Amino acid sequence: MYVDSHVHLQPHGQQPPVTRERIELYVQAAQERGVERLAFTEHLFRFQEAFDALYGWWDEDATDPALSAATQQYWQDHVSLRVADYVHVIEEAKSAGLPVLLGLELDWLHGHEDDLRRFLDPYDWDIVLGSVHWIGSWEIDLKSDAVQYAQWDARDVDSVHADYGALLRELGASGLCDVLAHPDLPKLFGHRPSSFTPLHEAIVEAATAGSCAVEMNSNGYRTPLGEAYPALPVLERANAAGLSITFASDAHRPERVGERFDDLAALAAEAGYREFVSYEQRTPAPHALAAAPTR
Ligand SMILES: [Zn+2]
Ligand SMILES: [Zn+2]
Repeated sequence: MYVDSHVHLQPHGQQPPVTRERIELYVQAAQERGVERLAFTEHLFRFQEAFDALYGWWDEDATDPALSAATQQYWQDHVSLRVADYVHVIEEAKSAGLPVLLGLELDWLHGHEDDLRRFLDPYDWDIVLGSVHWIGSWEIDLKSDAVQYAQWDARDVDSVHADYGALLRELGASGLCDVLAHPDLPKLFGHRPSSFTPLHEAIVEAATAGSCAVEMNSNGYRTPLGEAYPALPVLERANAAGLSITFASDAHRPERVGERFDDLAALAAEAGYREFVSYEQRTPAPHALAAAPTR
């Protein structure tokens, strides 16, 4: 049995109401996939409170006003929830016995550690994922926005990886999160640095500094490289360093919950792992990996 530690209730570009009925759709899909429990980890930028508290952060990076404007628009377009409502509906479902956990995908925003801590403080999260999606005002994982995606041509790929690693180290050192989500994200469009090693080292050192688990995320199978986040060499380093792993689909709709978890399990076993962890009340609990299925 698996635990899916990274699930979104709203697809990008859509804002279906977050209700008990919607939660039950995910629970049903999870059960069909052998996922015994799932953590809802909605994006920070879904919340009105985060938008208000962090408004203008996109203007702090003066690289390109068009980039800042695109990120501001992205945040505006995604605001769809009040955090207290989100927490309430998930806590109610949990109290009613549904196998769900209260989580958040926290964006690391350079220089805003105190704002992020203030956002987290009032609630009893089960799990906080730490994610780097932005380098300055550039959202690195957005192909649908030409202004954002053009940065991949404008920048040196080695520098992008170095910048990403530096932000991961800040995130780890902040101690704000339990898990580093999709930690080798810069590979998502197939760009290759001259060496992946510096980023791989940064991932393991950041996780160690923050006592974080490393997330195995099956969304990576959809990228041109066709491999999970993170790559096998990261997992081997993480295992040698004594770091735990979580399993994540990063589903943004019910039918993707638990997707390709047998493949994640086989990859974890290949890296020497015998167990994965899930989080409740921000405390990790181990689960044995089933005998490695063949890939
Ligand atoms: Zn993410
Ligand atoms: Zn996500």
